[in-house]
Amino acid sequence: MGILSSYVPDFARVIIERKAMGLLECSSIYWEFAGQCTQCGRCTAACSSLTSADMTLGEIAKALLSAERGAQSREELSARIAENPALVQAVRGCFFCTSCENTCFAHNDVCRLIYHARIDFQDLGLIPRDAWSSVQVDQEWDIFTAYRAIHGIDLTDLSRHVATEAHTTEADFELAFFPGCSMAAYAPELTREIFATVEALGGKTTLIDHCCGSPLKSAGFYDRAEALRNRIVGELKDSGAKLVVCVCPGCINDIRSTLAQQGMDIETVSLSAFLAEHGFSSKRTLPAGPLCLSKSCQDRDGSYLDETRAVLGVGETPVVLQGCCGAGGAVSAFDPQRQTEQAARKLSAAEDGATVVTMCPTCTYTYAFYLMGNPRAVTNKHYTELLFDNQFDWERVFNQLGGMWSGEYGPWLAQVFA
Ligand code: SF4
Ligand code: SF4
Repeated sequence: MGILSSYVPDFARVIIERKAMGLLECSSIYWEFAGQCTQCGRCTAACSSLTSADMTLGEIAKALLSAERGAQSREELSARIAENPALVQAVRGCFFCTSCENTCFAHNDVCRLIYHARIDFQDLGLIPRDAWSSVQVDQEWDIFTAYRAIHGIDLTDLSRHVATEAHTTEADFELAFFPGCSMAAYAPELTREIFATVEALGGKTTLIDHCCGSPLKSAGFYDRAEALRNRIVGELKDSGAKLVVCVCPGCINDIRSTLAQQGMDIETVSLSAFLAEHGFSSKRTLPAGPLCLSKSCQDRDGSYLDETRAVLGVGETPVVLQGCCGAGGAVSAFDPQRQTEQAARKLSAAEDGATVVTMCPTCTYTYAFYLMGNPRAVTNKHYTELLFDNQFDWERVFNQLGGMWSGEYGPWLAQVFA
């Protein structure tokens, strides 16, 4: 299969199995998980969140079931869970990095457990609205679409499978390019440059610049995330594209699994692999000093890492930063300090003078945000910035993001995201 791998990620196997009766929507999942866990404690030792909660994954399942057993109403159940700070920590402090699962001899599926727990948390009102109101990426306005509208970032001319005032719908595309929400919003010129390259190398291309729905899953809106992915796949089908080229490992996982669920004959490929397969020549020389490749936790099998090594021509780069960057699971909306500590932990393996090279643009964002508050002599680059002329300008992005709330659009934003 080469670059058109059929790998389907673990988290795509999350199955929404809701209980017909009872106060917890997903109790069957917790019963199953509790039955498979031997309480060996390896997962707890592998995770700072579980360590601080002093819980195993199996104990999360048991604690949810125990709370349900003692409650007569949803309100009582919600209060019982809220009164258990360790349980709240364990569920809302999860990055979905799967470091714990890698230590579990039973390979108990942490993502399946926590995604379902988040669904119940959301249903029970245990995730406050201000933790997700700005990342409802299936609505007209989220933080990315608002940023783009306020700062005049318009890529509709590239979304040629959608009719606009400037063009009619076309349906004869070879390819679709999926930059992901962070790149499309925060690096529109880089997005345009990559789009033009993809089209020159692979044929007629259209842009699909939605979010993949990851923030919705983290907030407990699993059904809405699934509906959004179905919408994306519907657009792919309408466009006629036979291949979708994704920048981010998380996006490619989600789109690939949705295509597989629907039995659709559209291939997925990482941008790294696409560029390497098509003989792309970098427009830049690699930076001096050591490179540290920051593996995305969504890149479970390391294939995106290998494909990025190949397109950069760096072979077996000695330093690979493992683990989550801190952005996973919307932990920042629950415990921003935990996100900061995780970013610091991951970057600590990069020596001064190194360039940290990310694959997921949200990792790039997270490191940029961390380094703005905690300056270090490391350079933070998405791998596309080592290949193309245009770059992220994080100082400008953060100034513009901050200014949105205090400028003329501040009251509107406050109302939309209230
Ligand atoms: S997935 Fe990562 S953050 Fe979540 S419990 Fe496992 S190790 Fe901890
Ligand atoms: S490592 Fe696996 S079996 Fe051991 S406590 Fe954690 S979930 Fe249970």
